[in-house]
Amino acid sequence: MTISILEFLDRPGRRLPVHAVLGGSDAEMDGVRTIGEIQIDGEAFAQLSTLYVDADIAAHIVQPCRRCLTSIDILFTLHESFTFPIPPQAEAIDVRPYVIELVFSAHDANVLCRPDCRGLCAICGEDLNRHPEHRHTAGDDGRRKLGDFLEPWSTK
Ligand SMILES: [Zn+2]
Ligand SMILES: [Zn+2]
Repeated sequence: MTISILEFLDRPGRRLPVHAVLGGSDAEMDGVRTIGEIQIDGEAFAQLSTLYVDADIAAHIVQPCRRCLTSIDILFTLHESFTFPIPPQAEAIDVRPYVIELVFSAHDANVLCRPDCRGLCAICGEDLNRHPEHRHTAGDDGRRKLGDFLEPWSTK
């Protein structure tokens, strides 16, 4: 993900549109979250070997719900102003490491699939969103409970 800077160097101080896309194939992970496509749209100008960028950043992120671990697709946006030093003779600047870092640090790591997510059963890991009636009772393994229920019928 690079921004070509020749145009900016030709016209120092002049604000020009900047647009860059980090493709989904370049997906990056931080252990839990995966970043898909990132788009940068805004303006930039060069002055005294510094590139000033003022842009909207839109990132597609996939990460698990904090409670139930279901994968959630999130479109995360932020507006950011940042600067890059322009190395001598450079024709482009690779903004990718910076932008990925920015997105990961600005984005909330603790998201829920929905505000009232019930999470997983602490004992067996059952998804309580799908089985809200799921319960364990002390000393009960499920099988015996079914037996107790059937007993009155079998003794008749
Ligand atoms: Zn959830
Ligand atoms: Zn359970």
